[in-house]
Amino acid sequence: MRTWLSAILLATLACDGGTSPTPPARVIVSPGVKLLVEAGTTFRFEARVTDAQGAAIRGAEVAWSVADASVASVDATGQATAVATGRTEVRAAAGDVSGTATLEVYISAPVAEYVPGRTYFGRNEYVEYIAGDLPLVVSAGHGGGEEPAEIPRRTYGTLSRDSWTQETTRAVRDSIIAYFGGGQPHIVISRLRRTRLDPNRAIVEAAQGSEFAEQAWREYHTFIQVARERVAEDYGRGFYVDMHGHAHPTPRVELGYLLTGNDLSRSDTGLNAPRFPEQSSIRSLARRVDLSFADIVRGPESLGGLLFGERITTVPSPLIPDPGGEPFFSGGYSTRRHGSLDGGVIDGVQIELHGPGIRDTDRNRRRFAGALARALRSFMETHYGFAWEQGAAAGR
Ligand SMILES: [Zn+2]
Repeated sequence: MRTWLSAILLATLACDGGTSPTPPARVIVSPGVKLLVEAGTTFRFEARVTDAQGAAIRGAEVAWSVADASVASVDATGQATAVATGRTEVRAAAGDVSGTATLEVYISAPVAEYVPGRTYFGRNEYVEYIAGDLPLVVSAGHGGGEEPAEIPRRTYGTLSRDSWTQETTRAVRDSIIAYFGGGQPHIVISRLRRTRLDPNRAIVEAAQGSEFAEQAWREYHTFIQVARERVAEDYGRGFYVDMHGHAHPTPRVELGYLLTGNDLSRSDTGLNAPRFPEQSSIRSLARRVDLSFADIVRGPESLGGLLFGERITTVPSPLIPDPGGEPFFSGGYSTRRHGSLDGGVIDGVQIELHGPGIRDTDRNRRRFAGALARALRSFMETHYGFAWEQGAAAGR
């Protein structure tokens, strides 16, 4: 009651134009944390000045400052401008009191030339890129395990992790180096758990408003983009593989070329209709080679056919031409974006692995990785005109 009375009394005094203005008791700066990712970009912080009773003092004079001017500057209105990578306190002072917020500036260092075999990280090492020199890009977006406190849990969409796909992808890298004459694939990995980031979705569902997750999402796709541009420049054609793990009832590898189970249920003649290659992630390949689309997708020389040759049960393939009405992943955001659906010379596929016998133990992961590397090599030699010397370490 006393609080209320005091507040009213103070307010009354202020309204009456009293000579002593209400002294500020507290300053709250919002948001408490902000990230800027490009030099010169700006953001306006807000300061709320209150009296001892918590009532806002309107029009209170606020003086803004930053602790580290090499990171960012701030003007008289609270607008900060990013200068260089670092972290600084942004302070708003009113009378004898002040409040602070943290401003982080993260500017990706421009890399003139990514060195094959070298690892590059994005902010906080959430995203990893191992640069390569082969016309092959492999990504793993759902195998990460990190759950940093700064990124809130995602609240909708799929949250389950594709267990061991990060490890499988690293094993695939080793096998590719062995079977592609010592050349190296480009590898892009999200180390964040899917509860924090789903890079195989558009940014809104992927990051769900967290600016830190959004930054990781941009880095993930930028690294893939950088790798694709390098491949296009060096070779004029290439292949992109997005690695995933599924828990569907039938244990078999699923290859997603953006063709649904329903699309694949057609006869070869049906599948050879012009609209199917045009809606696929291997559109560039289909236009380039003198082979029917059905043969590219599920013939003996298709990736599924070659995997079958390695005794990896795969759909689509000559023996299992379509999922037969069972659950099937046809390819997601990354395959749509980084394959050749929208043009370009890099084709793509989403590979979905079952668990048992494939990614459940280190031995199985290595065995599968060898099979996939050999299948990819045959696939790319047959359809892309490459020829690689088999490395010395390539024994089965
Ligand atoms: Zn996945």
